[in-house]
Amino acid sequence: MLEVHDLTVRFGGITALDGVGFRVERGEMVGLIGPNGAGKTTLFNCLTRRCAAGAGRIGYSGRDLLAVPPHAIAGLGIARTFQNLGLFPRMSVRENVMVGAHHHGRAGFLTASLRLPAVRREEARLRAEADEVLRRLELTGVADHPAAGLPFGTLKRVELARAMAARPALLLLDEPVNGLSSAEVGEFADTLRAVRDDLEVTVIVVEHHMGFVMGVCDRVICLDFGRKIAEGPPEEVQRDPAVIEAYLGTP
Ligand code: ATP
Repeated sequence: MLEVHDLTVRFGGITALDGVGFRVERGEMVGLIGPNGAGKTTLFNCLTRRCAAGAGRIGYSGRDLLAVPPHAIAGLGIARTFQNLGLFPRMSVRENVMVGAHHHGRAGFLTASLRLPAVRREEARLRAEADEVLRRLELTGVADHPAAGLPFGTLKRVELARAMAARPALLLLDEPVNGLSSAEVGEFADTLRAVRDDLEVTVIVVEHHMGFVMGVCDRVICLDFGRKIAEGPPEEVQRDPAVIEAYLGTP
C-alpha cells in the first residue's frame, strides 16, 4: 500500500529525514518510534503533504504521493490525528465526528449546494455515519455532550472517531495515548485493534509509550536523527542495541 524510498527533508541546516525507506502492506499496524526530534512528525507531514520532500519518492496504492496536492490527501483515504487534540470544544462529540465524515464522499457539498432539502439529506447522511462510528468506538453515551469538559481519555477516542469517520484506508496516529492513564492506554489499544480488524484500515502509529507499541503493532520502525536505525517485529526492535542506545544513550 505504501512505499517510501530514500525520503530526505531538510530545514535549513537540519536534516529531519535522511534517506528513509520502508514499505507498509495493506492491513498492517506499524509503529514508528524514536527519540524526540527523530523525524517522526516530519514523516507524517510528508505523507499528508504538509511538508515538501527534498528528495525521495512515496508510492501510495500505485500513485506518486508527492505529486498529489495537499487538499486531495483526504480524498485518497489518508486520515491523521495530531499530538495536540484538534477538536472543536463547543461542538458536541457527534458534530465533531460529523466533520470527519464530511471529508469523504462529497467533499465541498455543503458549500456547493444551498438547496435546503439537499442540505438536510446530506446532514442526515453525515449524522448516520458519525453515529455508526461512535457506536463502534463505544462513544454513543457522550454523542450529545460538548467536547469541552470530557475526560482527556474520552477526547482521544473522539479524535480517533473523527479520523475513522473519514473512512480512511491509511490512518496515521500521532501519539494517540500520550497523557492517558495505564487503564485508558489498555482501553485505547483494545479499541484500535477492534477498529483495525472491523474496518480493515492500515495504521501507522507514532508513539513513545513502548508498552502500547509492543502490544498493538505488527512491526516497528525506529528513527534516530532522521535515519531508520531498526525495523522488524516489536520484540526484536525493542532488544536492538542501536534502539536502546538511541533512547538511553547506552548500548
Ligand atoms: P517528537 O517526538 O518530539 O515529536 P519527532 O520525531 O516527531 O519528535 P520532528 O518533529 O519530525 O521529530 O523533527 C525532526 C527535526 O526537524 C527536529 O530537529 C526538528 O527541530 C526539526 N524540524 C521539524 N519541523 C521543522 C520546521 N518546520 N522547521 C525547522 N525545523 C523543523
